[in-house]
Amino acid sequence: MTEHTRPLGLNELEEAKRALDVPLFAGLSGDADVSFEFFPPKSEKMEQTLWDSVVTLEPLNPRFVSVTYGAGGSTRERTHATVARIAKETRIPAAAHLTCVGASKAEIAEVAQSYWEAGVRHIVALRGDPPAEGQAFESHPEGYNSAAELVAGLKDIAPFEISVAAYPETHPEANCPQSDLDNLKRKLDAGASRAITQFFFTAEAFFRFRDAAGAAGIDAELVPGILPVSNVAQTRKFAGMCGAEIPAWMNDLFEGLDDHPSARQLIAATVAAELCRKLYAGGVRQFHFYTLNRAELSYAICHLLGKRPSGTAQEKAA
Ligand SMILES: Cc1cc2nc3c(=O)[nH]c(=O)nc-3n(C[C@H](O)[C@H](O)[C@H](O)COP(=O)(O)OP(=O)(O)OC[C@H]3O[C@@H](n4cnc5c(N)ncnc54)[C@H](O)[C@@H]3O)c2cc1C
Repeated sequence: MTEHTRPLGLNELEEAKRALDVPLFAGLSGDADVSFEFFPPKSEKMEQTLWDSVVTLEPLNPRFVSVTYGAGGSTRERTHATVARIAKETRIPAAAHLTCVGASKAEIAEVAQSYWEAGVRHIVALRGDPPAEGQAFESHPEGYNSAAELVAGLKDIAPFEISVAAYPETHPEANCPQSDLDNLKRKLDAGASRAITQFFFTAEAFFRFRDAAGAAGIDAELVPGILPVSNVAQTRKFAGMCGAEIPAWMNDLFEGLDDHPSARQLIAATVAAELCRKLYAGGVRQFHFYTLNRAELSYAICHLLGKRPSGTAQEKAA
């Protein structure tokens, strides 16, 4: 018997079956809902990139797009300007991230009120992190101490739709996973209608979290936050701060590609799309993409999930 005619062993058979099964992404109906996150641009050039990305992603009919709030509230004006522009010039519901850092309750009320007046009805309510890395969070003497308090405060200002943050691998400051879940429940009980998760890289992390949340009496929507990673070193730095684990296989996949940006992009899309496909297979129908203000990766993954474009900003203007 030659190597070519030898019957496959059990392990090989399993692998062959996996590889020969119908294409993983074949026949998906596009029934998933998607949303996209951006950060406020620092320059005119970055603003153009952001805007091009919004225009590219709009035809996918996202449920909403959100714009982050810089550490310590450092992007207050830019976040407001970006969210207000999205609300005015597109038909995508715009959501503004808002944090408790360095602001009194009265100042936060003023910001929230101005969002309401600009037609923004959705806030992603966060405690936030201090402006400098490694510092501990300290609440403003007249401010909110936690995201749960902020949610309750916002609900007193206007009937906002509110999303909050969740941590499949537990927030680094939490006493334990259960106390983090209790905190998530407090945020939802205070009036938030969904939780968007910190990024993670294995579907199991999300499924375990979803089960634990269910057991803790949380029945609100848990939307996985998807970060398509094309720069592992940068992601590692960020992951360390927010309690997400980068699996070893991810380093291997990107090794030797420092000078191959296109290959990195392809691999980034493959890894993130596979994660989304596993989540989809596990019943997930809502995905939130951390776009880093670039549309291509998120667009490609949405396409693989069966999303197809319809209706554009131009049609809205017509
Ligand atoms: C989807 C998403 C979007 C984000 N956007 C931004 C952004 O735009 N700008 C920004 O600066 N940051 C952003 N962050 C990061 C976030 O601000 C940080 O992770 C921050 O450290 C925690 O914010 P939180 O809203 O989860 O806080 P909280 O829900 O208040 O929790 C903070 C910590 O305190 C603990 N805790 C809270 N209350 C209690 C209590 N009563 N008893 C015991 N423990 C308690 C929690 O378990 C947790 O460990 C985002 C995170 C996510 C997942």
